[in-house]
Amino acid sequence: MEKLLEQLIDTSKVYGNNSDMVLVGGGNTSVKDDKVMYVKASGHALSSIDESGFVKMDMDAMRGIWNKDYSTDTDEREEQVLSDMMEARCEGETARPSVEALLHSLLKDTFVIHMHPALVNGLTCSQQGEEIMRQLFGTRAVWIPLVNPGYILAKTVKDAIAVHEEEFKVYPDMIFLQNHGVFVSGDSLVRINAIYEEIIDILEKELIRTPDQNLVVIDTKRSEIMGEAVEGKWFEVYNRELIRFLLDVKSFNPISSSFTPDHIVYSGFKPLWISESIFSEEDPVADIKKCIAEFTKEHGAPAKIIVVQNTGIFAASENARDLYLDTVKVAVYTESFGGPLFMDDGQIDFIRNWEVEKYRAKMSNT
Ligand SMILES: [Zn+2]
Repeated sequence: MEKLLEQLIDTSKVYGNNSDMVLVGGGNTSVKDDKVMYVKASGHALSSIDESGFVKMDMDAMRGIWNKDYSTDTDEREEQVLSDMMEARCEGETARPSVEALLHSLLKDTFVIHMHPALVNGLTCSQQGEEIMRQLFGTRAVWIPLVNPGYILAKTVKDAIAVHEEEFKVYPDMIFLQNHGVFVSGDSLVRINAIYEEIIDILEKELIRTPDQNLVVIDTKRSEIMGEAVEGKWFEVYNRELIRFLLDVKSFNPISSSFTPDHIVYSGFKPLWISESIFSEEDPVADIKKCIAEFTKEHGAPAKIIVVQNTGIFAASENARDLYLDTVKVAVYTESFGGPLFMDDGQIDFIRNWEVEKYRAKMSNT
């Protein structure tokens, strides 16, 4: 097992350092045999992971979770499952396993690599995502609709695989999660790498266009005004793709909400839109400050991204910026698969209030 874990660490780092595949603390990996599983600990980034970033879990205890009855109350259930997951750690383990550990444990293959690549999410966050996935990947893949993450997601995947095996007599090696990402499993890392290459290749061939991320300069005067209106250090970006989205409220729509949990965790559940007419007001700094304060009051948390019409985006942190630029990429890719499909309000609220995600955001210092 130690040797396999070493291999997994090497591969995890390769993916973790490829921004087309993994951003910030996104994605997680695991290796298992019948007795134990090493799974990424919550809050660790794949890019710099080592042995301390993995938690050793007892597979018998993980399997035991399926025989338990949990509360029907969402919060209570999640608390119970988390407590059982902590109990399922092997002796001496202190880190908290990834929220997706239960899902890793139920896939029968030795290795599992789960990521949220923008290109893949172009498919999973699209109106016709499921239909196109079936055309492109056939019975090798399973589609999981948007459900609460954690226990419910793992249970949904477990049931979907059982149905899939019954119907098609094959074990799927790709699991596409709507508004989330993909799980790929295999008996070797070579196999998993090949599957990912295939997924990327196949999806790339379907693209009608790709995002144009060439930077353009932000209007100096407006940048200064924004600098005065926001507190602390913010990061500004304006690129050719953003020009298309920032024309008016209508063109902004495909990047106006959340595609996946990671987008919510790092760049906020939605950006604050500021109309450019604000710059012709008498005191634009005061007016922008007012908009920021109103957003905070209305939503109980400050905006992590401010989008200014025909000007650019302003991000409260580098992580917020990177995940929001990912939103822009995903939005462009969805054009090839029937147009954008955001998470619904209920799911967005669940993630915003889920203790597990708050913990992850805190660990990643965003
Ligand atoms: Zn995930």
